[in-house]
Amino acid sequence: MSTTGPRLRIAPSPTGEPHVGTAYTALFNYLYAKKMGGSFILRIEDTDASRSTPEYEKNVLDALKWCGLEWSEGPDVGGPYGPYRQSDRKDLYRPYVDKLVEDGHAFYCFCTPERLERMRAGQRAEGRAPKYDGLCMHLKADEVKARIEAGEPHVVRMKIPEEGSCKFTDGVYGDVEIPWDAVDMQVILKADGMPTYHLANVVDDHLMNITHVARGEEWLASVPKHILLYRYFGWEPPQFFHLPLMKNPDKSKLSKRKNPTSISYYSAQGYLSEALMNFLGLFFIQIAEGEEMMDMNELIEKFDPDNLNKAGAVFDTQKLEWLN
Ligand code: GLU
Repeated sequence: MSTTGPRLRIAPSPTGEPHVGTAYTALFNYLYAKKMGGSFILRIEDTDASRSTPEYEKNVLDALKWCGLEWSEGPDVGGPYGPYRQSDRKDLYRPYVDKLVEDGHAFYCFCTPERLERMRAGQRAEGRAPKYDGLCMHLKADEVKARIEAGEPHVVRMKIPEEGSCKFTDGVYGDVEIPWDAVDMQVILKADGMPTYHLANVVDDHLMNITHVARGEEWLASVPKHILLYRYFGWEPPQFFHLPLMKNPDKSKLSKRKNPTSISYYSAQGYLSEALMNFLGLFFIQIAEGEEMMDMNELIEKFDPDNLNKAGAVFDTQKLEWLN
C-alpha cells in the first residue's frame, strides 16, 4: 500500500446498475489522485447482503474500466487488481464495534422493529423527525449479558452527544455546522452481525489511509456520525468533498424516467467513454470558453480542487452529444 501522496477511493455498493453518478464521483477521485501523484482505490461496499449481487459488482468493475478509471491497488487476483470487498473483510469490523461498546461510545439495543415503528409513528404525529429515543442506552450490563445469552435479537447503536453541534469544513460546501440533536443514534452493527455502511466505511477509510473522501452530497448529513466515529477511535478524519447531485436540465433530480442513467446505456449506444468523462469533468472543472473538449490528460491538468466549478451538475444530453 503506497502511503505517499493523497489516497482517494470510490466505494460503490453493488446494488443496482452502475450509474453515471458513480462515474462522476469516481472521476473526481481519480483526477484528484492523478493530479496530486496519489492513489485511487476501489472498495466494494457490499455489507447489505440482501441487495448486493456479484453481477452488479462485475458491472461496476467493467463500467469503471470502460470509463478509463482504473484503480491502482487491491488484492492480487493474478492480473489486474481485484477490488477490496467489505464482505471479504467482515470479521475485521467486529472488534471495532466491541471497542466502542467497551469505551461507552456505543450500546446494545434490543428494540423490536414493531416498537421502533410505534416510536417513529408517535414522533411523526408530534411533528418531530423520527429518531431513536435511547430506551436501551441505560440498560445494566448484567441485563444486557443475560438478554444476549438468551439469544434475544439485538443491534449495536452509537451514542451521540446531547448538546452542541458538529462543525467541519467541506471542500465543496465550505463551513458546515449540524446540531447533534439532528443526528440519530445510528445502528453500527446489524442483527445479522454485519456492520452498517457507516461503521465499515469509517473503519476502512482509516485502515486504507484514505486522506480525501469525495462522494455525492446525499452523504453530507452523515458526516457528523463519521466524524464522531473518528473521534471515538482517536483517528484523524479525512478531508471531505460532497459533490452536487446531478440534475436534469429542468433542475429536477436526475432520474431514469427523464434521462438514461446507467453507464451501460451510454456504452451500448456507442458513446465514447472519453466524451462521457469530458462531459462529467465539466461539472467540476473550471475552464475558459472554447476549452470544453478535453481528453483525460487535459482533465487531469485542468482539475483544481481549490477552484471547483460551482455551477452544478446538469445532465444535459445535448451537450454530451456535442462532446461525443
Ligand atoms: N457505498 C456508498 C455509496 O455507494 C459510498 C459512500 C461513500 O463514498 O462514503 O454511495
